[in-house]
Amino acid sequence: MKLQSRARRTLVSAGVAAAVLVSAVAAAATGSFGGGTPDRSAGLAKQIDPDKPRNVILLIGDGTDESIITAARNYEKGADGAFALDRLPFVGDMTTHGLKVGPGPDYPIAYVSDSAPTASAWSTGHKTVDGRVSQGPSTADTVPGQDFRTVLMDWRDSGRRTGNVSTSEITDATPAAAASNVNARACQGPADMANCVAARKANGGKGSIAEQLVDNEIDVILGGGLNRYNQATDAGPSVLDYAEDAKDYRFVSSAAGLDGIGSLGGGPVLGLFAPGNLTPRYSPLIATPPPGAGGPTARCSLANRGTQPSLAAMTEKAIDLLDNRRGFFLQVESAMVDKQEHAADICGAIGDVSELDDALEVALDYRRHNPDTLIVVTSDHAHSTQIVPNGSSGRQTATLLTADGDPMSVAYSTQAVGSSHTGSTVRVAAVGPQAANVTGLIDQTDLYWTLKGHKPSKLHGGGKH
Ligand code: MG
Ligand code: ZN
Repeated sequence: MKLQSRARRTLVSAGVAAAVLVSAVAAAATGSFGGGTPDRSAGLAKQIDPDKPRNVILLIGDGTDESIITAARNYEKGADGAFALDRLPFVGDMTTHGLKVGPGPDYPIAYVSDSAPTASAWSTGHKTVDGRVSQGPSTADTVPGQDFRTVLMDWRDSGRRTGNVSTSEITDATPAAAASNVNARACQGPADMANCVAARKANGGKGSIAEQLVDNEIDVILGGGLNRYNQATDAGPSVLDYAEDAKDYRFVSSAAGLDGIGSLGGGPVLGLFAPGNLTPRYSPLIATPPPGAGGPTARCSLANRGTQPSLAAMTEKAIDLLDNRRGFFLQVESAMVDKQEHAADICGAIGDVSELDDALEVALDYRRHNPDTLIVVTSDHAHSTQIVPNGSSGRQTATLLTADGDPMSVAYSTQAVGSSHTGSTVRVAAVGPQAANVTGLIDQTDLYWTLKGHKPSKLHGGGKH
């Protein structure tokens, strides 16, 4: 029974084309099917597509490593359950290390990175130092490195539409790296340029991240961070006024406002739904020193998100607007997994893994009718949530009742209060044209080439091309 119901869910949600369904169902699914299940080789082989994708949808869970995915799966689906992200056919493991500042040209390795160099790696194909946004390493944090073009800019310059969606401030490191170049991630608005003086527009630079996202003419920008856009530019008007007046952006600030946008015919869209970050799906449950927070009957509660759209709603609207014959590149980030892990907030982090998965379901629905779409789901770096035996020690712990009806405990032990990134590899999973390139152990800079799209190749023994 379990096999059947899981296979059926795969049919509905993974969006596999009808022609490959029968053999691909088992291949696209994951989990243990016991010894009696058929060999998956043929199903997987049929999903290897060497064409260049027409569309690319990159979904990022910030700080979303195997550990928090497992905790979220246990909580939401049960230990034998599966998210949509668990059912993608091609899965690899991705290294996330970065560099440290130095005299160069060889820079020391940073084994634990933040979201700026990691997002820069897949955005540009180059490693860089902590805090740096799509710009190379240098001798010091305040010394700019070399600007690198991003994969989003490449797609834009080839006449494709582009989108950038996040649940954090849209100027935060992950969405920033998609379409801006600056030496310090803190330089989010024109009033935040203390560590990026040369980048100020008054000094002939490209400006703050908020300004660069607009200047790079991304068709759809959706997220938080209105306060950055209300800052005055060096020229006087706010960044928001500049976006509307000089770049023809249409500004919306609520889910209803976003619903009201029907096409890109009236100009690009700038949706900013909160002064800062958007609200996570669940209210916080913050781990505490043992015996810890929560308990064997504790469940997470939905937060009041007011007029903010969900990540899935933003993703659906972005895809609707970007869809066109020539193709598009869309980056979507569930940002608050990382931020709630920093806060040792198990409910906040779990809920936003589900937000990521819901956004993936939207992308898979689109792919069902647009199979020339490459979908990649991954993370930027690992984090510190660990699933531990009930009653374990650890600096801060919490216990929740899972979908299995059993208690699951987690511990955060990288800091006395809160928690920090860790240096493990992260999962990268994909479906669609050239998705097979994510398998095995790859580096974050390798992902750049897959997102850019390789030249179509031939399959051994004939097949396509
Ligand atoms: Mg982020
Ligand atoms: Zn973080």
